[in-house]
Amino acid sequence: MSPSSFPMRSLQALSKALHAREISAPELAEESLRRAAQAPDAVLWTNPELTRAQAQAAQAALDRGEAGPLVGLPLVHKDVFVTQGLPSTAGSKILEGYMSPFDAEVVGRLQAAGMVTVGKASCDEFAMGSSNLNCAYGPCFNPWARDRVPGGSSGGSAAAVAAGIVPAATGTDTGGSVRQPASYCGITGLKPTYGRVSRYGMIAYASSLDQAGPMAQSALDCAWMLAAMGGHDPKDATSSALAMPSSLLEWEGLAADAGRPLQGLRLGVPEEFFGAGLDAAVAHRVDEALKALEALGARRVSIRLPRTELSIPAYYVIAPAEASSNLSRFDGVRYGHRTAQADDLASLYSRSRSEGFGPEVQRRILVGTFVLSHGYYDAYTLQAQKVRRLVGQDFTQAFEACDLIVGPVAPTVAPRAAELESAAQANPLADYLSDIYTLGASLAGLPAMSVPAGLATPAGGGSPMPVGLQLIAPAFEEARLLSVAHRLQLATDWHLLTPEASA
Ligand code: GLN
Repeated sequence: MSPSSFPMRSLQALSKALHAREISAPELAEESLRRAAQAPDAVLWTNPELTRAQAQAAQAALDRGEAGPLVGLPLVHKDVFVTQGLPSTAGSKILEGYMSPFDAEVVGRLQAAGMVTVGKASCDEFAMGSSNLNCAYGPCFNPWARDRVPGGSSGGSAAAVAAGIVPAATGTDTGGSVRQPASYCGITGLKPTYGRVSRYGMIAYASSLDQAGPMAQSALDCAWMLAAMGGHDPKDATSSALAMPSSLLEWEGLAADAGRPLQGLRLGVPEEFFGAGLDAAVAHRVDEALKALEALGARRVSIRLPRTELSIPAYYVIAPAEASSNLSRFDGVRYGHRTAQADDLASLYSRSRSEGFGPEVQRRILVGTFVLSHGYYDAYTLQAQKVRRLVGQDFTQAFEACDLIVGPVAPTVAPRAAELESAAQANPLADYLSDIYTLGASLAGLPAMSVPAGLATPAGGGSPMPVGLQLIAPAFEEARLLSVAHRLQLATDWHLLTPEASA
């Protein structure tokens, strides 16, 4: 097989080919680099020397017969993970050219497992957004339709996997940023439980919500990656000491009957996830996916998540509050862009920050500073924290009646970039509403996934676009999510759909 025809899709298949010597790690890396160079909207930064050196080391391990499953497999990291040898900008001008002296824990762990870093993926600035239109280095396109957004904030990661540039990517999810772009681009993405994966070296957005997660073709591939990424890290004070399960693809709730492995599994369908605002074609795909789960033995139970709507205002107070504090370090002195025209210290700070931060980031800093300020803290931040607690209680209660919560990831398929831009001009907050189904699991710190559920024709016309099914599990039950998603993917082929095949 010539490298240019390698299907850069399944970690499983590529790992097998590497171990069988059908391809080499350097060949694979070279091909990923070539494809990345053709997609500068998705992959912002590369360092071919570094990639080649990692691929050679991987090949040496393969040659010695010492290679684990991930050795030699290429990936891109969302540009909020700091990396040695590659710029780390978080999609912001304020960090243009910033080179980190160390690797994020996730980057180090995946590297130690033998994965080869091909580059850094585009994202919304400081992970703030749902479209990847907020990246200071330009927008990223959806490989399924280039006039549509890939989603965000991990849009470059999702686009790079969907386009077959790399078989896997890392993303981060604060309020949906792994799940929603995975849904829009037709790939599988997992947001682990808060505390499951180290945040060390992840450029912080909202520290009580930020979690890193894998994005790849299948649940099986995501399980491989999470096994390498996750687990306790003493360098992150909020990292959980709970051991990772020995298998992420088995769960005691699965039935022994291979034909009906989900026998008795209770799927909680929240009324609030299927109300007004949900596109009919998206609802239809979600229903088809639920039918496929039912054919495997699962049954639907109706549940309530009454604070679903309140999760939007609560999140959009808490996340900006934490962001305003986290982003105060970018002052032009220790970190980031420094203005050329400062008269004194105060103008150095304000000009550096005004020049360096994009409009959405500035908006969030202003909102966050406001809701934390004396006299407003009680009315906004404290209130939002109380709502957050109630949202968590809703989930705890819902899980008394079901094993997994299921629903859509987003109300629509990926919107057209031009339409989102004009809507944002009219009301910059409008886009926040599309996060309605993902914010709850974030506020509650629960693990959640997006699993491909086929294609739907967009409401305003155009070619069919991917739809994601969201699965939400109780805390630290990643194995439940992944094993159910894996059984679904053994029985269906929605996760195998690619933009090329549909073109
Ligand atoms: N869209 C949400 C926001 O803008 C979520 C982003 C994220 O998960 N990083 O904050």
